[in-house]
Amino acid sequence: MDTSNYLKDNIRTVPDWPAPGVQFRDITPLLQDPRVFRVLIDAFVHRYMTPELRPTVVAGLDARGFIIGSVVAYELGLGFVPIRKKGKLPFTTVEETYELEYGSATVELHTDAVKAGDRVLLIDDLIATGGTMMAGARLLEKLGATVMEGAAIVDLPELGGSARLKASGLPLFTLVNFA
Ligand code: IMP
Repeated sequence: MDTSNYLKDNIRTVPDWPAPGVQFRDITPLLQDPRVFRVLIDAFVHRYMTPELRPTVVAGLDARGFIIGSVVAYELGLGFVPIRKKGKLPFTTVEETYELEYGSATVELHTDAVKAGDRVLLIDDLIATGGTMMAGARLLEKLGATVMEGAAIVDLPELGGSARLKASGLPLFTLVNFA
């Protein structure tokens, strides 16, 4: 089975959402069908089970990164930490602000979520400009952890994010490519 095409066939493209001209790649059908959901999760789990790629903790980006990341962490026998949009985490946090097409966004991480020496797998659903994943990686590094790899279901290479992240030195793994 070609996993990439199987997953791609189960991603829905919604035109003009959330704004005219945007082709939104909707991953919810991947979660809805239990067979597809298993193929998706297993693709990540098999990769990060290998000893040289095994993380010590999994971090997920708000909000679809939580759905994938927490299940991957559970299957690997690891803990999961959420990186949230500003104002949602109750304990002391570090924060990172990054530019969006219009305006900016801030993400936060609890200061005790990771420790120096942790090798973190950072998960989101999709990489567009790469700004969200870059901000997440900076937060983890602020606490002394190393991001061993960023992982996402979908890469939109035309938006330049994956190239930018790789150029910054962050290894990247994605399953589906919409060129
Ligand atoms: P970036 O920061 O520009 O790379 O945008 C990636 C973030 O925006 C991720 O957290 C995604 O969940 C979200 N995002 C942007 N475009 C899409 C899309 O087409 N489908 C699903 N999520 C998207």
